[in-house]
Amino acid sequence: MRAIKAAVATDPRRRRRRAPPVPYHGDMDTTAPRRLAAPELAATARRADLSRPCPACAALRSPGWESMPSAFDRRALVQLGTLRDPDVDEPTLQEHHPHGTHAWSAQAPIALAWYPYNRCEVWACRTCRRAYLRYTEYGGYYHDERVREVDPALIDDLGRSEP
Ligand SMILES: [Zn+2]
Repeated sequence: MRAIKAAVATDPRRRRRRAPPVPYHGDMDTTAPRRLAAPELAATARRADLSRPCPACAALRSPGWESMPSAFDRRALVQLGTLRDPDVDEPTLQEHHPHGTHAWSAQAPIALAWYPYNRCEVWACRTCRRAYLRYTEYGGYYHDERVREVDPALIDDLGRSEP
């Protein structure tokens, strides 16, 4: 009995205190993409080299949402971050169209708190740095990978709160 007690007391695994849970910070978790807020997304988009056409991402260039062209080489893009809020498990499916646009409109606001922007990843072309949003639309019998170029003028951070 005595021997067992001694062994337990000296077992380093028993003496090590459990570390407190680490609070989630996007920057600390290198596996999680960094969350970008509206000003960072705008700054990212403004870093693009717009001085000449870019053959690497020309197939994606569209002011509104498009399906990802099946032949597009995704290696032309690099992920910069996400618009998803890590504290929200089920982001709203409601869209934000205060000026009468619809989901496919070229002028639809890039409204970060609303569908589908609230689940988008932010990517950039490795060649010209143009910024693109990507998400996957899941229907009953299909899924569709979608992409939209980021026009900083369309970023709408108003109506940020959930309905
Ligand atoms: Zn490009």
